[in-house]
Amino acid sequence: MLVNLKTVLEKAKTEKYAVGAFNATDLNTARGIIAAAEAENAPVILQFAEVHGQYISLEQAASMYLQLAQTAKVPVVVHLDHGENFDTIVKAMHLGFTSVMVDASTQPFKENITRTNQVLEIARALNVSVEAELGIMNAEDGSGALDYDQMDDTYTNVAEAAEFVKATDVDALAIAFGTVHGLYKAEPHLNYQRIKEIHDKTNKPLVMHGGSGLKDEEYRESIKNGITKINYYSTMSYEVTNGLRDYLNKNSDAFLFDVDMKTIELVKENIAAKIRVFGSSNKA
Ligand SMILES: [Zn+2]
Repeated sequence: MLVNLKTVLEKAKTEKYAVGAFNATDLNTARGIIAAAEAENAPVILQFAEVHGQYISLEQAASMYLQLAQTAKVPVVVHLDHGENFDTIVKAMHLGFTSVMVDASTQPFKENITRTNQVLEIARALNVSVEAELGIMNAEDGSGALDYDQMDDTYTNVAEAAEFVKATDVDALAIAFGTVHGLYKAEPHLNYQRIKEIHDKTNKPLVMHGGSGLKDEEYRESIKNGITKINYYSTMSYEVTNGLRDYLNKNSDAFLFDVDMKTIELVKENIAAKIRVFGSSNKA
């Protein structure tokens, strides 16, 4: 069933687990994600990232993902990930997305609040949830140099987070505490204390971006301290591609529909394993 983000995250916050948020750029990946959520009886967030518009259009994603969500046996949020352009965000809401992220994190603090409130005004009228971001991370596509030794300078500031939430009353807040987008080039050092402080000051569902490549224990500790939405994509993408390469090497007579079915199966296995770690199994 199609639901909004606020509904699934408020329950996750109360019961202390995280809901997985997974990007798809095609129908088979999306089917694999939904199949995993149904197998685990878990709520799930199916995401279209604005930067992936070069692989699938917003309109194509909307029609496929919304249909999958409406017919799913578990609660599914159809979410716009990293909406940077106001036009894209408004279009996503009109197409039926039940949640949008307004990413104005590279803007000055006041401008971030202004842009988030512009989106909220429309979203509230349509019962669409809104995620905003505060703090600096590398670019969503994994590009952008980060100095791992200096990263704590760019973590989300606790007092600013409290002020931001007071000024916007946003439904979920993405924070920077040591994770990076894409694959990790060095050992990550997560600041759990920072998550806890922001959680205590804001009492809002908090979002981890850059959820690829972390150890199970790092996910669990983040959730324990207040993370309720985890964006996970890059590792799944690489592992499924490797699995497909292996499958094709062993099956020289495969048809295209065999590859489609194998893709769904590999995505399902990969995502189901993460859902179990995030603690959202049987929370549908
Ligand atoms: Zn992100």
